[in-house]
Amino acid sequence: MLAIDMRSTSAEVVICGAGIAGVAAAYHLAVRRGVRGVVLVDERPPLTLTSDKSTECYRNWWPGPGDHMVALMNRSIDLLEELARESGSFFRLNRRGYLFATAETGRAVKFQRAAEEAAALGAGPLRLHARAASDYRPSPAEGFDSTLSGTDVITEPSLIKRHYPWLAPDTVALLHARRCGWFSGQQLGMYLLERAREHGVRLVEGRVERIDAAGGRVRGVEVRGVGDMQTIGTSRAVLAAGPLLKDAGRMLGLELPVFCELHAKIAFNDTLGAMPRGAPMTLWADPMTIAWSEEERGGLGRSSRHRRLVEELPPGAHGRPEGAGESTSVLGIWTYDVEPVEPTFPPNFDPAHQEVVLRGLARMIPGMAPYLDRMPRCFVDGGYYTKTRENRFLAGPLPVEGAYVIGALSGYGMMASNGAADLLADYIAERPLPRYAPAFRLDRYDDPAYVKLLEDWGDSGQL
Ligand SMILES: Cc1cc2nc3c(=O)[nH]c(=O)nc-3n(C[C@H](O)[C@H](O)[C@H](O)COP(=O)(O)OP(=O)(O)OC[C@H]3O[C@@H](n4cnc5c(N)ncnc54)[C@H](O)[C@@H]3O)c2cc1C
Repeated sequence: MLAIDMRSTSAEVVICGAGIAGVAAAYHLAVRRGVRGVVLVDERPPLTLTSDKSTECYRNWWPGPGDHMVALMNRSIDLLEELARESGSFFRLNRRGYLFATAETGRAVKFQRAAEEAAALGAGPLRLHARAASDYRPSPAEGFDSTLSGTDVITEPSLIKRHYPWLAPDTVALLHARRCGWFSGQQLGMYLLERAREHGVRLVEGRVERIDAAGGRVRGVEVRGVGDMQTIGTSRAVLAAGPLLKDAGRMLGLELPVFCELHAKIAFNDTLGAMPRGAPMTLWADPMTIAWSEEERGGLGRSSRHRRLVEELPPGAHGRPEGAGESTSVLGIWTYDVEPVEPTFPPNFDPAHQEVVLRGLARMIPGMAPYLDRMPRCFVDGGYYTKTRENRFLAGPLPVEGAYVIGALSGYGMMASNGAADLLADYIAERPLPRYAPAFRLDRYDDPAYVKLLEDWGDSGQL
C-alpha cells in the first residue's frame, strides 16, 4: 500500500482540467487579467483527453436564436488572430472558409436565406454570384489576413466548375462562409500553456477528488497525485472537466444539464490527390443514401447496429486537407449517428465508420471513388462532444459561491475556448461583462422565457 503524504498549499484560483478550456482559462486569468496564484490540475498530460482529437476548424457561422453565438465566436476569432500575430503564426491559423455544396436545386434558395440570417446575426455580408462574370474570389490557402467575411453564394455552374472542378459534377450551388478555417489546436494549446506558466500558473498532476464547499462556498480542493494527497486552500474553483463535467459538478452537489456524444474522425492519405491541398473545409449539404451492393445491404440490414446505414443518412459529410509540405493527409467527418452515451475511455469506434465516411466524401468528391474499391489505411480517432441540450456552452458562476464552470464546448471547443475563457476571466476578475454573457450562464435555465424558447429551438449549429 502506498503511504499517502498529506500536503497543504493555497491558491487564488484552482482550475480542474487542463484541456483547451482549462488552459485557455488559466491563460486569460494570468496573462490577460494579471491574476496571480492560478493552479491548473489534471490527472492526464495537458490537452490529451478531447482537445487533441479535434478537426481544429473554426467558423463564425452560427444560427440563432439571437446573435450571442456569432458575437462570442467573433470575439474568440479576434483573439485567435491576435494570438496568431503575436506568436508569428505559431499555430498556423488559416482562413480558407467553409464551403457547403449541394446537388439539390431547392437548396440554393436555402443557402441564400441562411446567408441572409448569418448576415443579420453579425457574420458578415452576403455576396451572390449568379453570373459567369461575377467577381467571386476563392480564399488564399495560407494566412488569415483576408478582409472578406460573411458569405458567398454561387449558383452559376461555370463559376462552380472553374473554381471547384474536383466537386461532384451535379453540384448546383455553393455557399462559402469566409471567417472560417483551421489551425493547429495542439500548438495553440501549448502556446497558451507556456505563456500561462511564464505568468506564474502552476500545473499540478493529479485528480481533483473533492471540493470543500462547506457553508455554500468554496474553501479548498483535494487533489490525489501519485502516492500523495494535497489540499489546496482556495476560495475559487473552476470546473473545466470536459466529458467528465457531470462528475465534477457532483463534487459540488450539482446536477449539471450536460450529456456526451461520441464523435469520430478519419484520417487517410489521399494519394490520388482527389482533394486539392489548398481546398477549404468542404461539406456536402444534402442527405444521401449510400449505394451499397445488394449483398452489402443484406449484411447491414441483418445487424441492429448497422441497419440504419442502408437508409437515408443526414447531410454533412465533410473533410479537409491536413498538414503542410508533402503531406497528402485528408480528414473526414460525418455525423450520421449520434446518441447520448456515458463517456468511457478509450472510446470504442464502429469498424464500419471509415468506409461510411469515405463513401460520403466520394459522393462530394468523385476523385475519391477509387478508394471504395481499395480502401486506404484509415486512422480513426475521436472523443466526446459534451453538450447542453441547445448546444450552447457554459461559462460563468455556479450556484456555490466561488465555483465557476467552463465547459459543454461540444464540437466547437477549440474555436470557442478563447472567447469562453475571456468571458470567464471577466467574471473572476470582476470586470464588466460582454453583452452576450447571460447566454452562456447556467442560470439561463431558471428563466421561464428561455425554457420556453428551448421547446422549439431549431438548428443547434452542429455539423
Ligand atoms: C472528433 C472531434 C472533432 C472536433 N472538431 C472540432 C473542430 O473542428 N473545432 C473545434 O473548435 N472543436 C472541435 N471539437 C471539439 C473540441 O475538441 C472540444 O470541444 C474541446 O477539446 C473540449 O475541451 P475541454 O477542455 O472542455 O475538454 P478536454 O479536452 O476533455 O479536457 C478536460 C480535462 O479535464 C480533466 N479532468 C476531468 N476531470 C478531472 C478531475 N476530477 N481531476 C483532474 N482532471 C480532470 C481531463 O483529464 C481532461 O484533461 C472536436 C471534438 C471531437 C471529438
